[in-house]
Amino acid sequence: MNIEQALSYGHSVLVKSESPDLDSKILLCLVLDCQTTYLHTWPDKVLTTEQQALFEQFIHQRLRGAPVAHITGVRGFWSLDLKVTEATLIPRPDTELLVSLALTKIRPKMMVADLGTGSGAIALALATEQPDIMLIASDYSWSALQVAKLNALENKLNNVSFIRANWLAACRSSVFDVIISNPPYITEDDPHLLEGDVRFEPVTALASGKDGLTDIRIIVSQACQSLKSGGWLLVEHGYHQAEQVMQLYHDAGFSNISSHQDYGDNDRVVIGQLTL
Ligand code: GLN
Repeated sequence: MNIEQALSYGHSVLVKSESPDLDSKILLCLVLDCQTTYLHTWPDKVLTTEQQALFEQFIHQRLRGAPVAHITGVRGFWSLDLKVTEATLIPRPDTELLVSLALTKIRPKMMVADLGTGSGAIALALATEQPDIMLIASDYSWSALQVAKLNALENKLNNVSFIRANWLAACRSSVFDVIISNPPYITEDDPHLLEGDVRFEPVTALASGKDGLTDIRIIVSQACQSLKSGGWLLVEHGYHQAEQVMQLYHDAGFSNISSHQDYGDNDRVVIGQLTL
């Protein structure tokens, strides 16, 4: 089997995947330890028996539903390659919106918190862009924190402190200039939780009560204690939750509240400032 045949084999087996071509290319690159351009340049290169067996094994893992990021163990986010395990959410491209918006509010020397950091994606992206800030990244899950710390180490980012915390419950008042979070926000009975890649992610990172807003409610109400005056809160939410989340900000006393859309034009992030 050569590279071209391997890719068409992958495509035919994964025909029900949303992205059979991309999945096959990523998995073949993992086997051959190469970049995708190599696949296009050397379509006639024949795989060794071991490479072919490994490729078939990965394709069958994917066929059984395993997310590509769990097979490769990495996912690109912002400019970083992040280690990903079943302990955390797989970072989504849409969450880069949260990073871009946070960067418009963050200045050198600020105290910044990333709540529910998971793989560390948001905190580490901010740390690469603004090395001169104090960053606290928290999660309730010890195993997620281990993944996040490893990602900090591998990306040589040492300006993030990782702590185990239940949102801002144990936080002093008026500490942070900016608080960012991509919390769980899917309704607990959402049928999507039983489909596709999300089946392999921790439900505690995805679902949040009957209306999906249980954790966002807690974060918004606690953030107005923990933010300094003038500080900003930025929260990712579900595509249909913008109005409710803006109302929560309003009820908690935030000003300058605005809603922002992701790459797919869905409402995805609400930001607001504490001006009290
Ligand atoms: N956006 C993700 C999804 O729909 C959920 C991420 C989250 O709950 N924070 O799969």
